[in-house]
Amino acid sequence: MTTGEAPYRILLYYKFITIENPEALAREHLAYCKKLGVKGRILVAPEGINGTLSGTVEQTEAYLRMMRQIPLFQDLVVKIDESDKHAFHKIFVRPKKELVTFRLEEDVNPNELTGKHLKPKEFYEKLQQEDVIVLDGRNYYEYDIGHFRGAIRPEVESTKEFPEWIRNNLSEYKDRPILTYCTGGIRCEKLSGFLLKEGFTDVSQLDGGIVTYGKDPEVEGRLFDGKCYVFDERVSVPINRTDEDIVVGSCHHCGKPEDRYINCANDYCHLQHVCCEECEEAHNSFCSKECEEKTLRSLEA
Ligand SMILES: [Zn+2]
Ligand SMILES: [Zn+2]
Repeated sequence: MTTGEAPYRILLYYKFITIENPEALAREHLAYCKKLGVKGRILVAPEGINGTLSGTVEQTEAYLRMMRQIPLFQDLVVKIDESDKHAFHKIFVRPKKELVTFRLEEDVNPNELTGKHLKPKEFYEKLQQEDVIVLDGRNYYEYDIGHFRGAIRPEVESTKEFPEWIRNNLSEYKDRPILTYCTGGIRCEKLSGFLLKEGFTDVSQLDGGIVTYGKDPEVEGRLFDGKCYVFDERVSVPINRTDEDIVVGSCHHCGKPEDRYINCANDYCHLQHVCCEECEEAHNSFCSKECEEKTLRSLEA
């Protein structure tokens, strides 16, 4: 795994496992991460751990050695990307109530109830099955710059909106095979469990998520259109490594095909919008005339 030339690594992992004292673990973890110099965001909850972080090859290797010494995390599955720099500015380690915030009346424990895990090849094959329903387990703004061909776009802005959206929109498909996918797999662990609990009969999830699918030597990201949104400074990463790679999404200003997101330069707006390079320059990184004028006025005042 350390064959490349890149000086930095970006790690992504999760594990559902009972953690007795998330606060204490988060505290110790933060101190250790600071000492190492890794940066990123780690969530610790009674139901497990979820982390994404960046550091030099040495730092991330030391981090993983430390993790594997903790009995709970000995078998941690970690996705590793190479990078030429850090993907985060700071390190956050936070205790949380849930790793995936569904706020269900009755929580789903993925260790007890979850959809069937499909390897990339199996997922690829099932994607092409006639009667299958493909559900994107992410938010609409992630879907909008890249998704599996034929997938349903969930009209949700955050994970907690999923249960209600599913009840309102997918109830008629309970007897159809359902495939779910998300970035690294964690959201589907709960989402697919929720679907089963709701009475969907045939639910499968993409094991390791889109990022694993993109690295798979056999499928090479096939049937994924566009880029995969990521929650770090890269904003998005390429997935489809075949000649079928296309751009999904369009510039907020001029409408031409584009898949790069920027944040509006107005500090009170910060709207994340798809924007081409020409329009970023022409509009000074503002999402709208209004934001541009407001900011100029406040600078003059
Ligand atoms: Zn444009
Ligand atoms: Zn704006």
